[in-house]
Amino acid sequence: MKNRKEWLIITSLVMAIVMVLSVGMPLSVAANARDDYEEAQQELESIEKELNAIKDTKKKQEQEQKNAQTQVNLVKSQITSLNEQIEETSERLAEKQKELDKKKADIKETDDLFKKKLKAMYIRRSGNMVATALAVDTFSEMLTAVNTLTNISQADTALLEKLNREKEEIEKVEAEIEAELETLEESKSLQESKQKEYATLLQKVNQQLSETQAQEAAAQVAYEDAKKKRDDAAEELEKEFAANGDLESFVGGTWRWPVPTNRYVSSHYGYRNIFGYREFHTGIDIPAPRNTNIIASNSGFVTTATYSNSGYGNRVIIDHGGGYKTLYAHCNSLNVKVGDFVAQGDVIAFVGTTGLSTGNHLHFEIRQNGSTVNPYPYIKDN
Ligand SMILES: [Zn+2]
Repeated sequence: MKNRKEWLIITSLVMAIVMVLSVGMPLSVAANARDDYEEAQQELESIEKELNAIKDTKKKQEQEQKNAQTQVNLVKSQITSLNEQIEETSERLAEKQKELDKKKADIKETDDLFKKKLKAMYIRRSGNMVATALAVDTFSEMLTAVNTLTNISQADTALLEKLNREKEEIEKVEAEIEAELETLEESKSLQESKQKEYATLLQKVNQQLSETQAQEAAAQVAYEDAKKKRDDAAEELEKEFAANGDLESFVGGTWRWPVPTNRYVSSHYGYRNIFGYREFHTGIDIPAPRNTNIIASNSGFVTTATYSNSGYGNRVIIDHGGGYKTLYAHCNSLNVKVGDFVAQGDVIAFVGTTGLSTGNHLHFEIRQNGSTVNPYPYIKDN
């Protein structure tokens, strides 16, 4: 029993080690240039996706920031306008109050005068109101005095009533202005609370945006890094192709015109004058609108599919075997990867004007054993 148990433990351990090795080893050992390239390309694409997502987020946040800023500015200008209205209304209110004070003073003055007159005309005598004016000699004089008293009283009463009516009118207007002012103050406090809200929002958006910008910067670095790794891997793969990847015999068949929709050649193979310089043109130029399909002139392996600083821009090179290669330059974008086998007629890239180019066109070359040849005779009929 004991031996059997030990044997089981040892067997399990061995199996575990074998499993760890079989999972862990192939990654580092079995990798070749092709796998490295595929891996680097996938990594680059995944980082590019990530970077683009971050850029989209940034764009949205920039729009949010713009909106929040617009709101803050709007509320600010509304508050400024409300302040002006409040100031103007307060001035009107102050004027009304001045008017009211004056009216009150007028009333008091008239009232005082009236009372003074009455005081002058009446005296209290043993509890009875008797007009001094009644201290007259004759009955007719008395009548005149009574009339005079009545007239004075009526006129003053009417004046007082008129003044009081005017006072009430002013008070009514004053109350209206006060209500107006109150409404304005309410609007202002509403706008002020909105201002606080938008300022908080803006602050939040700014914070988010700066975080996104930091993410973008980090992703950009990762992208450049992954791109360099991919380019290095592509170079290694190209070297491998150059060393032993060449197809031994030509794939055969006739060559196809590389831009099926555009046949015009703006610059032929051979010597040409450019800005007064005699220059050897190593291919033919076929102008076409941006993103027009470029097809493989013949079947073969893609040995190059990257951007070149040499002037070709984005370019594809296909090895057709038998020492034949074709080159497609200045592409806007590429549709194949190094190591792809492409059939004649497959769309491999799209017309552009990358690299040393002054307009959208395909620069097309055929190379035989490393030297360019005039491609026109090969493709002109197909
Ligand atoms: Zn050219």
